[in-house]
Amino acid sequence: MTDLATWLRAQLADDQEPGPIAAAHRAILDLHRDDGLGWCTSCGAMTLDDHDRAPVETPCDTLRALASAYADRHGYNPGWAL
Ligand SMILES: [Zn+2]
Repeated sequence: MTDLATWLRAQLADDQEPGPIAAAHRAILDLHRDDGLGWCTSCGAMTLDDHDRAPVETPCDTLRALASAYADRHGYNPGWAL
């Protein structure tokens, strides 16, 4: 099964989106990538002053919301919906 980030990158690679929109969506993908342990690198990231935040599993809600813009395309997994 394709993961959301891989599927979304494929949607952005097929030139169906205007360049600036695709670039912005790729930037969001880069910010919200998997840290290798299954956690989003942006959402829930802890700082020294913020000890109460919990890590957020990937795909995070930001990527789920982004993918919803392409929900009518082949391969979209309804399980990714918010
Ligand atoms: Zn995130």
